[in-house]
Amino acid sequence: MRAHRPSRELPRHLDRLYAGFPFQRSYADDPISEVRPLAVDLRHAEVAGVFASTLAIGNTTAIRGAIGRLARLADGDVAKLVDPDWAGERARRLRGFRHRWIRGDQLDRLGSVLGEYYARHPSLETAFLGGLDAGGFASGLDALARVLRGDDGAGGRARRPPRGYVALFPSPLDPGRSPAKRLTLFVRWMVRSGYPDLGRWRRVPTGELRVPLDQHVHWIAYHLGLTARRSRSWGAVEEVSEALRRIDPIDPVRYDFVLCHTGISGDCPKERDLAVCGPCSVRPDCLLWRGKGTAA
Ligand code: SF4
Repeated sequence: MRAHRPSRELPRHLDRLYAGFPFQRSYADDPISEVRPLAVDLRHAEVAGVFASTLAIGNTTAIRGAIGRLARLADGDVAKLVDPDWAGERARRLRGFRHRWIRGDQLDRLGSVLGEYYARHPSLETAFLGGLDAGGFASGLDALARVLRGDDGAGGRARRPPRGYVALFPSPLDPGRSPAKRLTLFVRWMVRSGYPDLGRWRRVPTGELRVPLDQHVHWIAYHLGLTARRSRSWGAVEEVSEALRRIDPIDPVRYDFVLCHTGISGDCPKERDLAVCGPCSVRPDCLLWRGKGTAA
């Protein structure tokens, strides 16, 4: 049976992958390239980040398109989406909005919930930190999920949330132990100041971050021995994050963008293909190649 551990050489090979990575190519393809121009201050960064990460379902072209449509709908000023004085216009403009299974009425609810939250708190960092301090990162995400679901009655106590709304914000503390990829991605954007992230939250240490475990990151993390779990669960998130933290305790998720876009871009075929895998920096660590030299 294969030893499911990262090789001792992995840190050096990951650094080589990172150093040679075409960041500009993948930045243009990533949802963050739509979020960054909207994030002119903390409030705009949070609002753009929450809506964009909520829409981060499907392929990156469609996600960037959905974020762009939402921004145009708010005349380029995403803070309008949480402005109670603009609520009627927001609901009217969002009517008919659709991205995959996410509907305009759900985004309208999110605008109401955030508007009520911001009437009482300056930043979502407050909610996240409350959970983080009480029970660690998963509790921080849980606190955020509760805010966004409107568990405290935000969004209109008398009005039931639209169908499917609450399910948009899974928490790792829910019975399903969701990997909560989209909320984890939002927190990465807010906390990390290293490229390409926004670094608007200053009180959460980068060493606390967890990796947003999408299917690409999970595939490569499994094959680099960073987790032995074949299913994407919160347990896998913790395992991969801990393995990366042993490599870089200060900024463990700095490899996330590179691992994710190695998959998205097709740089990694997810199978043994000597023509593509030949120049891959982590080929000696990849379970598909370990101990097999260069034989196809
Ligand atoms: S060696 Fe090939 S399959 Fe393995 S991670 Fe690199 S590109 Fe992907």
